[in-house]
Amino acid sequence: MKDSYLTRVLVTGGAGFLGSHLCDRLLERGCDVLCVDNFYTGSKRNLAHVLDHPRLELMRHDVTFPLYVEVDQIFNLACPASPIHYQNDPVQTTKTSVHGAINMLGLAKRVKAKIFQASTSEVYGDPEVHPQPEDYWGHVNPIGFRSCYDEGKRCAETLFFDYYRQHKLRIKVGRIFNTYGPRMHPNDGRVVSNFIVQALRGEPITLYGDGSQTRSFCYVADLVEAFLRMMETPDDFTGPCNLGNGDEFTIAQLAELVVEMTNSRAKIIRKPLPSDDPKQRKPDTRLAESKLGWRATTPLREGLKHTIAYFDQLLRETPAVRPEVNSA
Ligand code: NAD
Ligand code: UDP
Ligand code: UDP
Repeated sequence: MKDSYLTRVLVTGGAGFLGSHLCDRLLERGCDVLCVDNFYTGSKRNLAHVLDHPRLELMRHDVTFPLYVEVDQIFNLACPASPIHYQNDPVQTTKTSVHGAINMLGLAKRVKAKIFQASTSEVYGDPEVHPQPEDYWGHVNPIGFRSCYDEGKRCAETLFFDYYRQHKLRIKVGRIFNTYGPRMHPNDGRVVSNFIVQALRGEPITLYGDGSQTRSFCYVADLVEAFLRMMETPDDFTGPCNLGNGDEFTIAQLAELVVEMTNSRAKIIRKPLPSDDPKQRKPDTRLAESKLGWRATTPLREGLKHTIAYFDQLLRETPAVRPEVNSA
């Protein structure tokens, strides 16, 4: 990043899983980082190692309310990301995506900042095209349990492109596919954290459905590198751009790998498949490769090694941690 030591960067959702890793990288680059978070799913623990850093400022704020600050760049990550968290208060989830986008776009417009939106593969819904290219419009249920997240993120993309066309804002829209790594929430019900915590505790591994559904898992360090590269692309590159790992695994394969890597004696058991659970998901990553010169390179086995080590430590510190399991 050119002149990064002069760059004032706002990270919304900066105390969350992805946001805290992004704050780390921006501080390493010499940026002034303003981290804004309402601590709904994030925590100061994720930033404990940098709370005293002279170039980090942490502000408790909800992005559904206006924010008046002076910055050069904005990474808009604020939004609960796991189904359990975003379905807990679905109205607030939609507000966070939509009102949050309007406020951050209004801010970007006033201070002429470049703005990145953390969009999601969920904009493709339960896709009928595989792998998913950026020009696929998706297959989304507008009234289901996942809709607050999927449709909120879709509307946020609409707002980003309308501010781009109407107000000539410099926008970057990244569609993030399933990402994992240290600082994931131990009890947000996501598959990687659930399986690791269950395996480490020697408790049953909860496989939803028959485990034949697929996902492509990106290691967090790879993803954050993609965020930074995308922010540096020329102004005429807006995205949307898929950001994820192209290696596809069934959920049953993931369960077996986690059991093997943790030397666990945990048994794999079946649980009902949640509603609207996408059957297949894998990014078409050609645009990211050509525009960002980037592809995710961390193999699943290596990323899992770091993630298992993180949860192993966390369980030693807080042994009562229990994963959330779908009971529907
Ligand atoms: P996370 O829940 O760990 O982080 C989200 C952060 O946003 C949390 O710190 C939370 O407290 C904060 N937040 C929520 N609502 C807010 C509000 N109204 N105002 C201010 N802060 C608020 O989730 P994450 O995995 O780090 O996801 C970060 C972003 O990336 C989200 O926008 C998510 O939709 C997107 N994303 C993540 C993934 C993934 O696999 N992790 C995949 C696709 C998209
Ligand atoms: N906004 C903000 N910070 C700013 C500027 C604007 O939070 O520095 C919010 C403000 O609440 C406004 C929204 O962004 O409602 C959209 O701003 P815009 O200028 O696009 O539209 P307005 O509603 O002001 O006409
Ligand atoms: N899953 C599972 N067991 C769990 C948690 C999740 O089998 O304990 C499955 C879930 O049904 C889905 C996949 O793993 O098919 C990924 O789920 P996650 O919630 O991590 O992400 P998303 O569905 O948003 O991709």
